[in-house]
Amino acid sequence: MSAKIRTRIYVACFALSLAVLGINMLGTGAQENSTMSASTTSDPPAVQDHLEAARLLAGSDPDFQGTLSLCLTPEAYRQFLAEGEKNLVVAPPTKVFDQLYYLGMNSVGSWALVTSDGIIQFDALDNAEEAQRIIVGGYKKLGLDPAKIKYLVISHGHGDHYGGAKYLQDTYHPRVIMGPADWDMIAKLPVKNAAGNLLPPPPARDMDAVDGQQLTLGKTTVTLYITPGHTPATISAIIPVTDHGQRHLLSFWGGTAFSQNSQALALYKNSLIRYIKIGQDAGVDGYISNHTWFENTYTDGKTDKIAKLQSRKPGQPHPFILGQSSFVRYMMIHYECLDAAQARIQAKASP
Ligand SMILES: [Zn+2]
Repeated sequence: MSAKIRTRIYVACFALSLAVLGINMLGTGAQENSTMSASTTSDPPAVQDHLEAARLLAGSDPDFQGTLSLCLTPEAYRQFLAEGEKNLVVAPPTKVFDQLYYLGMNSVGSWALVTSDGIIQFDALDNAEEAQRIIVGGYKKLGLDPAKIKYLVISHGHGDHYGGAKYLQDTYHPRVIMGPADWDMIAKLPVKNAAGNLLPPPPARDMDAVDGQQLTLGKTTVTLYITPGHTPATISAIIPVTDHGQRHLLSFWGGTAFSQNSQALALYKNSLIRYIKIGQDAGVDGYISNHTWFENTYTDGKTDKIAKLQSRKPGQPHPFILGQSSFVRYMMIHYECLDAAQARIQAKASP
């Protein structure tokens, strides 16, 4: 099946999943399905208030329609992910800023930050094969040397982010950084998951990330924050970049989807509030993620930010630089969807 057809199916599935929530996917033909469906109207009013707030924040901005997937019920979200898994497409390896490159798919992604003294690689995709084909293969297409990876920052201890880390560690010997509680977590993982599938072997434990850590390589310093919630020690980062020499500051929120555990959600909310303030104080004016539908880095190859970047004319604004208010709006959609998830749990506990 061609990448183009697969992409189209993926977008259709994506639109269908979001339609379950009543989200209006502009431009995908899903508008007729965008009325509130039964699964949403069955949500208690306390949940619906937050869904409504999230929808108001997103408006009709195409970049935020995928962010709204965070508001799906757990069942609908699982279905949404399963449909996406069937329709994976590899993104063109892309230079997004003067020194920041996207290597990944229309699902999970990774980023390479090139400094004057080597590369900081963020995340390692699902497994050794993907790391070799998509990250190392992408480097070669972009003229980057994988032997120059000095640091590999793993946002969190889920297989789709650390899966290729052992391969990169064994092959190119970068220092590997993860949050301490996530190192602990992956050390305890069984060899196979509940479905009987082999889990990727974890990398050998190396550096523990510290909250507020300044990681300097060459002339570049990124700041790492421990933002628990998605996992016990998810790393988020503030990353300086330039666009044709113009300085910008990006947020990289390291773990996005919610667990269905009330305590983890409470931790997540604290991390969100704290991190929004950190981003505001630092002067963040753009954001990236490691699952591309959340902020529309790469979804259909036509309306996403990478597509916009490829057709950008000199003097036009950078599609990833949307200003600080857009960063706050993006994070506040997380916040409202998180409150909806928390309210669903509470409604179940005391109907
Ligand atoms: Zn995860």
